[in-house]
Amino acid sequence: MTRDINRDVRTKNKTLNQWEQFFNKHSLASYPTHIQFPTGTRCNLKCRFCTEREGAAGEAYGYKDLSYEEFLSTVRLPGWNQALHSISTIALYGWGEPLFNPDYSRIFDYLAEHYPWLGISISTNGVLFDKSWSERFMSLTNADINVSINAATGGTYKWLMGNDQFDRVVNNMRILGELRRASKERSPTVTFSYVVTTANIRELPQFIDLAADLNVDTVVVQDIMSLSEEAMRLSLANQPYLARQMFAAASARAKARRTRLSFVSFETHSENYFPTTAEAGNFDACPDSGSYAATESPVPSPYRLQTDCFDPWERFMIRVDGEVFPCCRYQSHGDCSLGNIFRQSFQEIWDGAPYQTLRRGVNSPHPPPVCAICPRKSGLD
Ligand code: SF4
Ligand code: SF4
Repeated sequence: MTRDINRDVRTKNKTLNQWEQFFNKHSLASYPTHIQFPTGTRCNLKCRFCTEREGAAGEAYGYKDLSYEEFLSTVRLPGWNQALHSISTIALYGWGEPLFNPDYSRIFDYLAEHYPWLGISISTNGVLFDKSWSERFMSLTNADINVSINAATGGTYKWLMGNDQFDRVVNNMRILGELRRASKERSPTVTFSYVVTTANIRELPQFIDLAADLNVDTVVVQDIMSLSEEAMRLSLANQPYLARQMFAAASARAKARRTRLSFVSFETHSENYFPTTAEAGNFDACPDSGSYAATESPVPSPYRLQTDCFDPWERFMIRVDGEVFPCCRYQSHGDCSLGNIFRQSFQEIWDGAPYQTLRRGVNSPHPPPVCAICPRKSGLD
């Protein structure tokens, strides 16, 4: 009964949110449908392609764990309880390995106990995802697990991910796969992600077989983010013919094994192929109440703006230092925070001037600079 009422609240929030998008409301009565709450930036691996390892997140904001006390004092601030009752999903991870945080377990239990209808998603490297974690995620009614493995053999794994943990991860995933096989439930869904590089591209078809053996729903192949010299050396942009050949072989394996395969970041050409805000020109990039006028964008969009983006209505994405953004791109281009959860209540941020100004501008003919160069607006994402 309680669960049905709570499902009803979430459904109504989603419907109201869609109406508010449709009528282009900027101050919302609805809550977001999705929150990302990072739990730390530390990690037990050292992947060669990791942007965090290059300092983009961890070093800039300090390698840290979110403590249970910090989490609790935040979600007890005004507005959070209503928000957690209303949203559909929470992503309980950010940069770094979430399970490396010793308080992750208590944070997870708090949410599972107080908001049992809430969809919880995790992105993990799987090293610490043992049987007990499989069972805990299996007990949720709605969960998504993404596991970043990136190799089909121990040797490649060790070289690429900086730690000899391949057998352990595969064993953990075998347990999860067996539990899912024995269960009739659709939750949790499981995705394996594979950041494809010149070092692991030849193993991709073999990886599809491994994923199928481990009862995975989807394999997502991702392009490397060329944010360092090493990442540029590893980029498949250096070997496009090999990439095409191996993608075709992987697709054939996926079809034969009935495993969903997605090349999503290649379909969007990834961030690598789009200009940064710095390349696009000098401007005051952050649309807060004073610095951005929705009537004149200082950045001419290089694309035809074909698609509307509703992330500023739906998403509330937190960085480990508490700063809030509507999406990853907004976070990575400049420092256009829309508020800070450690200093403001939920409503002060969600209904504050920066969020409202962004909603006013994002789908206008003159979007904020970050949005003007976003693949989403050109219909590629
Ligand atoms: S597992 Fe993820 S966070 Fe950890 S080093 Fe690798 S890419 Fe970075
Ligand atoms: S258009 Fe792009 S940068 Fe702007 S809010 Fe949407 S996803 Fe984020």
